[in-house]
Parts: sequence; C-alpha cells; structure tokens
Amino acid sequence: MIAVGDELLEGRTADTNSGRIQRALGQHSVQVGGIQVVPDTQQAIMQALDRTTVGDIVFMTGGLGSTPDDISRDVVAEWAGVDLPEDATVRKQLEKRWARLGRKAGVGVQRQCQVPDRMQAMTNPVGSAPGLTGELKGRILVLLPGVPEELQGLLPLAVAWLNEQGFLPAERQTLLWRTGQIAELSLVRKLEDVVGKFPGFQWSWWLTPWGVDVRAAADINQTEILSQLSDLENEVTGQLGSLVYSRKMHSLPEVVQSLMLKKNLTLSVAESCTAGMIGARMTDLAGSSGFFRGGILAYADPVKHNLLDVPLETLDNHGAVSQSVVVAMAEGAKKRLGTDYSIAVSGISGPGGGTDEKPVGTTWVAVATPERTFAGLYRFPADRERNRLLTVAVAVDSLRRSLEFGPMQSPWNDDDTWCLLSR
Ligand code: AMP
Ligand code: MG
Repeated sequence: MIAVGDELLEGRTADTNSGRIQRALGQHSVQVGGIQVVPDTQQAIMQALDRTTVGDIVFMTGGLGSTPDDISRDVVAEWAGVDLPEDATVRKQLEKRWARLGRKAGVGVQRQCQVPDRMQAMTNPVGSAPGLTGELKGRILVLLPGVPEELQGLLPLAVAWLNEQGFLPAERQTLLWRTGQIAELSLVRKLEDVVGKFPGFQWSWWLTPWGVDVRAAADINQTEILSQLSDLENEVTGQLGSLVYSRKMHSLPEVVQSLMLKKNLTLSVAESCTAGMIGARMTDLAGSSGFFRGGILAYADPVKHNLLDVPLETLDNHGAVSQSVVVAMAEGAKKRLGTDYSIAVSGISGPGGGTDEKPVGTTWVAVATPERTFAGLYRFPADRERNRLLTVAVAVDSLRRSLEFGPMQSPWNDDDTWCLLSR
C-alpha cells in the first residue's frame, strides 16, 4: 500500500485509508507486505513504486484530486512509461456531474479525465476523481482518491475488479473472539496451549477500545487444517468463557444494547471519574433510547449526596472512591431515574490524588441489578486518559456480564486482569 499526501507526514491527518483497505481484503488471504506513506513528490512516489515487486497488488491512495499537488496519476504513467490521454467516457461523466451540481468544469479538472494507457477508470460514486485499475510493469495497480468517504465508496468496486480478474487468493475461514476485562498478555498466556496445539492457523491479537480481539484464520483450500476448526473453536471458547462478549464484529455497546432491548430493561448511570463517558458510549447507536434513560454526572461529593442520595457520613468515613459510595451511587441512580439496572463508577484517574492506600488507577465499579448491587475494585496501570477509557470498557462489560449471568450473580471472576476484588 502506498498512501500519498504531505498531510500524512506532518501529523495533520492520520492514514486511515490503509486500514480500511486491509479490512476490505480481510476475507481473502492477502498478506499485506507493507505500507508506505510518502509525500506528494514525484521522486517519493517513484521510489515507493520501485520498492514494490512484480506480482504485487499495489493500492495507492491520495493525489488524484485536481489541485497542482495531486500528481499520483502522472507519476504512475511516467513510472510505467505509458501515455496519459484524456478518456472521453470519464469526461462525459464528469461533465454530467458538474452540470448536476450547477457548476462548470474548472481548470485543473481536465486532469481528472486523464487515464494512463492500459488502465481503466472506475466511476466514483461519491466524488469526482475516478479510481484507476490496471496491470503495469507486472504490478496490479489500484489508484484510489485520498478522501476517506470516496475511498470507501470505491473500495467495493476495486475489490470486485480484483476478484473478477482472479487476482485475489482464496478466501479465508476466520474465527473471532472479542474479549473484555483481560489484558493482552494475559490473554495470550491463557491461550498458549491451544495455540501450540493448532499451529496450522494464523493467530492474531489486537487491542480494541473494549478489550482484546483474538482471531484464528486458515485458507479455505487448506482442507486438512480446516478439519480441525471445530475442535479449535470448542477449546478456545471453553478457555475464554465469559471473557467473550462477541463472536462477530459487534462492539460491546452493540451487545449490551441488544441484550437490554431483548430483555426489555432500562439503564441509568452514575459517573464520577468518567464524567459522562459511559453515557456517551451507551448512546452511540441508533435505538439507544429504547433502554437508556440517562445519568448523573456526579463529579463532586455534594453532587453525589444531593442528586444520588449518597449519605454524607459514608463520603466522610470511606472517601468518594470506596465500595460503599459506589454502591450508593448505583442505587441512587437506579431509584432516582427509575431504572431496572444502573452502573456507577468512582476512581482516581490521576495524575494526582493517589495515596498509598488508594494509588492512581484505583477505581470502584458497581452494577445494580433489580435484585442486588455488586461492586468490584479495580486497579488500572495507566495514565489519566487510558485509566478513564479502561473504566468505561470494564463498566460496560460488567453490565454485559450481569445481563448474561442473571441479577443474582456477581459479574466478576478470576480471569479478570484489573479487578482485584469483588463483593
Ligand atoms: P487527495 O486525494 O490527495 O486530494 O486527498 C484528499 C484528502 O483526503 C486529504 O486532504 C486528506 O484529508 C484525506 N486523505 C488523503 N490520504 C489519506 C489517508 N491515507 N488516510 C486518511 N485520509 C486521507
Ligand atoms: Mg493530497
């Protein structure tokens, strides 16, 4: 992959296109050999193309616009030693598009009508610059615009073209486990034996906002390996147990939302250290009003007392970051907002505020069910930003487990990395 654009090298824009392309190819056994991020200069783009190898599929994004710094198409033509004529069909399409928008074709726009010899244009369903595909110098080239929305619009067409031409290798069978509340290394260790037993699979692990994902993959034509698939699935699923919140690409909020809606339950939140971050995630998806009622952002002690009925003595005797306070917060929110479930968090995110007894990262999470209230003590190892994100992730996952286990059972167990104690 070659991502072209000065802005990508100056820290102004992050290269999200390469990841999008990888995900679009995810079902196939495409091994991404590398990603090059290069500036909008002829020399840099030429060098990047030279570094690719005969037989490679080369995706290049960016530099297809109409401004003078958009030179990808010209450089590719020059690198391959082919002409760059104007394409009559592309011109007609673009003129139609401009007419629809009530505009005349401006200068520079004619460059978007140019298609290198031996390449074909793909109509851009979102913007003007067409995508370009073709075989040049033994490489299978796919040129796509840099604007992420346009890239997204053109990607399915590009993948379909690669497929039609027979350039994409066999599809892969993949198994996915999405886990919460366990650190990456602990998960790797937990699965060490299983991974050793099934060496024919490609294993991968990655961090997500909600925890860690594990994937095992094999080509569909590796029949011998594929015959072990269901054994592998059973072993991993058995090992991971309730750590797994999804076997599909669903996010944790999607899982929680669908459980809440299916059981026809309502939720409120009482947030101290996260100050609304949990409520924000609970309302990311359309349809959240079907279960989420609201919350109280109880950052200061008087708010915990006045709006959540946390007794002043409890705050004085135990401190805001304590089991009794977080339990009272959850029960206060549940009562005040009249919901079936409630989650509450109170913690020391840092960098200041830690003590020997309650160091930075100390966080209490409570889940109030219709029957009982459970509280878990966590100790996160990170800085303020990450401690707060971890708090959001474990709080939502604790609710998920509570919904799965039932209202009488604690959501926590020994597999959890950061939960030290639960009551
Ligand atoms: P271009 O096709 O070079 O005119 O790119 C247009 C815009 O798309 C740039 O100004 C960036 O904001 C965005 N863009 C370009 N390349 C990327 C990339 N690799 N990842 C995310 N955004 C990009
Ligand atoms: Mg650019």
